[in-house]
Amino acid sequence: MRFDTLAVHGGERVPGPEGSVVFPIFQGTVFTSEPGEGYHDIKYHRLNSTPSQTYLHDKLAALEGAEAAVATSSGMAAVTTILHTLLGAGDHLLVSDVLYGGTYDFVTAHAARLGWEYTAIDPQDPSSWAVRDNTKAVLVETITNPLMRVARLREVVAFAREHGIVSVVDNTFASPVNFRPVVAGFDLVFNSATKYLNGHSDLVAGSVAGSGELVERVRHTLNLYGGSLDPHAGYLLARSLKTLGVRVRQQNANALALASFLSSSPKVVAVNYAGLPDHPDHAHAGELLNGFGGMLSFRLAGGVEATEEFFAALTLPAVAPSLGGVETLITRPAATSHAGMTPEDRAATGITDDLVRLSVGIEDAEDLLADFGQALDKV
Ligand SMILES: *Cc1c(COP(=O)(O)O)cnc(C)c1O
Repeated sequence: MRFDTLAVHGGERVPGPEGSVVFPIFQGTVFTSEPGEGYHDIKYHRLNSTPSQTYLHDKLAALEGAEAAVATSSGMAAVTTILHTLLGAGDHLLVSDVLYGGTYDFVTAHAARLGWEYTAIDPQDPSSWAVRDNTKAVLVETITNPLMRVARLREVVAFAREHGIVSVVDNTFASPVNFRPVVAGFDLVFNSATKYLNGHSDLVAGSVAGSGELVERVRHTLNLYGGSLDPHAGYLLARSLKTLGVRVRQQNANALALASFLSSSPKVVAVNYAGLPDHPDHAHAGELLNGFGGMLSFRLAGGVEATEEFFAALTLPAVAPSLGGVETLITRPAATSHAGMTPEDRAATGITDDLVRLSVGIEDAEDLLADFGQALDKV
């Protein structure tokens, strides 16, 4: 089955309980147990083993093309649980030098306390990567925030295999519509399902997928750390997954249209979108990805002041952080997602104060272009 068919039918129980075509929410925490059942198989929400949860896990696995998947209470619960599963005191981790803020803070602020060592690597420069005797894993992101760099993902997979370490990728910005990491050879993929997987900006969740053996280890860690997904949120997430392909393809198309439009304006000085031919990763991104995603960033020639005027003149996008929803969102990372960094650190990673980040929704492209056009005319 192809992606959109899997989105609708993957993981579905046929026939469903009591003949229900839509898989219901099993709200109860109490289920009868079988003789000889192990601790992790007892049906209980925190053990990620109840029918609503295993249904969602099967749908997520189908979409990822993976043997198994597990849902978590947030994207951060996904990444921290993966790292707690793979690393013990004295172990070493390779991490991309550009990471989601929460992941970056977790690794940098907590590694020493947990006895983990880490080295930041440039995901664009495979010749600079090296393992140590105690290296256990490498962690990268498919598309980075907010400059939309696309990592050398094939090389990461080959490097991890050559050195016998576990490859892990945060695929939040791409979603499995644009890139299926497990199919491409990654050992583990995780998502902030809060973003594209759910796509309606109304819940927080995470997902982890990979081999049955690795995902079972992650689930056992999750069972003890307690970051399980509530069955209500899981129900909404499973419902949203059915439209993932439809939504993300529209977001890909809208983002490409907006990126092309903005890059043709004399009032815009830089547009970061891997779908544009002048993006540094355009060539390898085109080979890896089915689409370039719904996220882009740019700067206006007029700097921060013009940017504030521009935001005020836009009528469709909400000025808000986060991403991946059906509605277009616009934000200035220096004032929101990256406000915690020093201005020097931001400048070093290309996050100037006037950088604008856009999460493109599923509105009609013509309406978006018209709105951006009239707002540009006012600055
Ligand atoms: C939002 C996000 C996370 C964290 O996800 P939460 O669901 O907020 O915990 C991790 N990685 C990326 C790339 C994200 O955008």
